[in-house]
Amino acid sequence: MPLTDTQRHIRAAARAFAEHEIAPFAQDWEQAGGAPREVLQRMAGIGLMGVCIDPAYGGTGADFVAYVLAIEEVAAADGGLFNLMAANNSPVAAALQQHGSDWQKQHYLTRLCSGEYLGCIQLTEPHTGSDAAAIRTHATRRDGGWLLNGHKAFITAGATAELAMIVAVTDPAAGKRGITTFITPTANPGYKVLRKERKLGHRTNDTAQARHLDKFDE
Ligand SMILES: Cc1cc2nc3c(=O)[nH]c(=O)nc-3n(C[C@H](O)[C@H](O)[C@H](O)COP(=O)(O)OP(=O)(O)OC[C@H]3O[C@@H](n4cnc5c(N)ncnc54)[C@H](O)[C@@H]3O)c2cc1C
Repeated sequence: MPLTDTQRHIRAAARAFAEHEIAPFAQDWEQAGGAPREVLQRMAGIGLMGVCIDPAYGGTGADFVAYVLAIEEVAAADGGLFNLMAANNSPVAAALQQHGSDWQKQHYLTRLCSGEYLGCIQLTEPHTGSDAAAIRTHATRRDGGWLLNGHKAFITAGATAELAMIVAVTDPAAGKRGITTFITPTANPGYKVLRKERKLGHRTNDTAQARHLDKFDE
């Protein structure tokens, strides 16, 4: 498949960044158990944290092939940073762009693209992963908003992200069609990191368990 000029340009930029700004330090970061946050901000500075997002929200406005080419380059240098980039780009930013309100896009999408916020996706639970419809985290209407209650596991950046996209059951009778995704800053007082997993590798990101008792306004 011939690549477009834009796709080639984005791959070249990601490759240069990965070779010069990630690979020489990856082993040290792996041993230290994390990369400096400003590395992600510099990745955002060259458009890697919102590759497919509309430039109106600070994204690069490229297509998914360009995103995959960029992420391959980062992954070749460091698997942990790749995972942070992946969670931030898609699903978090991509789902917000597709389904978010104007307010959510202005407040959250712009910050995800600029590197001010890092996003995480919270689907997996201690008892279920692949079988996403079996999640038990649920959200119920309360005082004109929602109360979300549940326990999430294996969350990439669960302890370091500023923004959490959380998948919860809102209508148990509707099965997998009764599942809704919520978005909240992790500064929400109902969000509590229970523990950071101790990993053998893949240590330039954190993988965390978290408890939710979050209140959302409508
Ligand atoms: C480093 C790391 C980072 C992660 N980051 C995130 C994150 O950011 N957010 C998040 O929500 N989750 C995250 N996860 C969780 C990950 O998505 C789950 O581990 C994954 O969905 C698998 O779920 P599971 O571990 O419960 O395994 P299971 O679902 O129990 O699967 C175990 C095995 O059974 C196989 N299997 C399962 N169902 C079937 C079936 N129907 N037919 C045939 N084979 C089947 C699977 O392929 C697998 O080999 C992360 C996990 C890791 C290890």
